[in-house]
Amino acid sequence: MQPLSAFELLRLWEWGQGQTPLRRGLGLLAAACPDEELATLAQLPIGERDARLLTLREWSFGRDLTALVDCPRCHEPLELSFRTDEIRTAPAMTDQLVLENAGYRVWFRLPNTLDVEAALTAGQEGHAVLLQRCVLGTQRLDGEPVPVPEAPVDALPAAAAAAIMAAIEAADPQAKLTFAVTCFSCGYPWQALFDIVSFFWNEINVWAMRMLAEVHALASAYHWREADILALSPWRRQAYLQLLGAA
Ligand SMILES: [Zn+2]
Repeated sequence: MQPLSAFELLRLWEWGQGQTPLRRGLGLLAAACPDEELATLAQLPIGERDARLLTLREWSFGRDLTALVDCPRCHEPLELSFRTDEIRTAPAMTDQLVLENAGYRVWFRLPNTLDVEAALTAGQEGHAVLLQRCVLGTQRLDGEPVPVPEAPVDALPAAAAAAIMAAIEAADPQAKLTFAVTCFSCGYPWQALFDIVSFFWNEINVWAMRMLAEVHALASAYHWREADILALSPWRRQAYLQLLGAA
């Protein structure tokens, strides 16, 4: 994995305008991991994807993060500040997982970008689609054959299906990060969800608009090419902008 240059980040921002959040996350990873196939990156467990995006965010914009959330009760906007190392969890268990529940033994794996994409496309059936893709096999503990072996999830009791979803969350904690937040205005406590893909993308949006304004100012004054301006270090770019402001 390697850091992205200002030129690459701006190209990704432009490309990402017509993409879904999942594809944006994958596009960022593909650009930062040129030695890995897109298909391999798409099959990383969500927590591994998010851990890599967190590293990329650190390289691009630093370790400090500030997120804005609205209190669900009084709608007061709250600012949360934290560091990237505070939201890193233990790596996911990527091996095949197994669980016994409601008379069944179930083998399953962690969801990846393709699974989540398929689940989102399925809408209301999303939960079932995710399970169908991630469950690798089932066996009844009493030795009876599972009625529909090619569709192992359909035969599972709801309790076993719920247990699999809980086990997936427990095995891949980086995939679903939550914060304990208490509203300073009304005292309401809740768990706020942190999604690195949308958070990082919002930051890239803000950064890109600022970068284009800087390119515009420098190109207007010096008639340099966009690529040359983007190739300047941020410090040198700021120095030129200050000189323009002082002129
Ligand atoms: Zn509140």
